[in-house]
Amino acid sequence: MHSGTEIDELLSLLTDTQEQIAYFKELGVEGVELEPQVGQSIETTAPESKPQLVEPSQYQPPNISTTTFPSPGIQRRRAQGHAKQSDPLFAELSCPPQRIEKSSETFEEIWADIGNCTRCPLHQERTNIVHTDGNHKARLMFVGEAPGADEDAQARPFVGRAGQLLTRIIEAIGLKREEVLIGNVNRCRPPSNRPPTPEEASMCKPFLLREVAVVQPEVIVVLGNTAMRNLLDIKQGITRVRGQFQDYHGVKVMPTFHPAYLLRDPSKKKETWEDLKKVRDYLDATRKRDN
Ligand code: URA
Repeated sequence: MHSGTEIDELLSLLTDTQEQIAYFKELGVEGVELEPQVGQSIETTAPESKPQLVEPSQYQPPNISTTTFPSPGIQRRRAQGHAKQSDPLFAELSCPPQRIEKSSETFEEIWADIGNCTRCPLHQERTNIVHTDGNHKARLMFVGEAPGADEDAQARPFVGRAGQLLTRIIEAIGLKREEVLIGNVNRCRPPSNRPPTPEEASMCKPFLLREVAVVQPEVIVVLGNTAMRNLLDIKQGITRVRGQFQDYHGVKVMPTFHPAYLLRDPSKKKETWEDLKKVRDYLDATRKRDN
C-alpha cells in the first residue's frame, strides 16, 4: 500500500519525465539512448551491450521511484569519467594552445571596469548593459552575439523566446539553467537587432574573456555565426564549423546554431542536438568539478 506522499512523488516524477521527453521532441530528437539494463526492463529481448533507441512517445520510465535527470546511467558515467584523448572529438585540437590563465578577480570588479560604458556606438540605444549571468563555477558556458529587446529591458541574457529555447536545450542535456554560465560577446543591444560589427565586438570581448578566466569553463558553446566569428576571430561560417570542437586559448568551444535561428528553421534543431550531445559526452567523460 502506497502513502499519499509516495503517490504524489510518483506523479511528480512522471510529470518531470513527460516534460523531459517533450523537450527532446521539441529539439527534434528521434530517440533516446538507454543503458542496457534499462532497455532490458522495457524490452527483454534487447541485445545487452548496445544502447537502445526508443521513440520518445513510446518511452516508459523503467523505475519511476528512482528515476531522476540526469538519469542514473548518466550520473554513473559521470562518476566514472575520464578523458578519452584518442576520441575523434579531439582531432582538431592538435596544437598546444596558449591558455587563458585562471584569474582571481570577481565579476563585480570586471563590471565596475565596464562601468557606464561608452566605448562603442552600441551604448547609444541601450536601456541596460546585459552582463554575463549564471554559475561562476560552471563547467559549461553559452555565448551569444548581443542582447535583444527582452534582454535589454530585463538586463539579463537570453530571457526572450530564443532564451526560453536555450533553457530547454540546456535541460535536454541533463543540466539546469542555473548550473551554466550565459553571456554575450556584446553587452548592449544593437539598433534593430542588427549583428554587432567586429569592431564593436573587439571593444566588448575582453570583458567576456576576463569572466572566462575567472570561471574557467571546460566548454563554451558559441551560438550562431556572428557570435562564433566575433569570439573566435574566424571567417568561416557556422554551417561549416558547427559540431566540431574548436580551441580558443585552451578552452574547448563548440559552435552551434543560434536558438533564434532554430525558431525560424526548426529542422536545424536536430543538428543542434547532435552538437550538444558531443558537449554532454565530453563533460561526462571529463567530470572534474562538482557544481
Ligand atoms: N540573442 C543573443 O545572441 N543574446 C541574447 O542574450 C538574446 C538573444
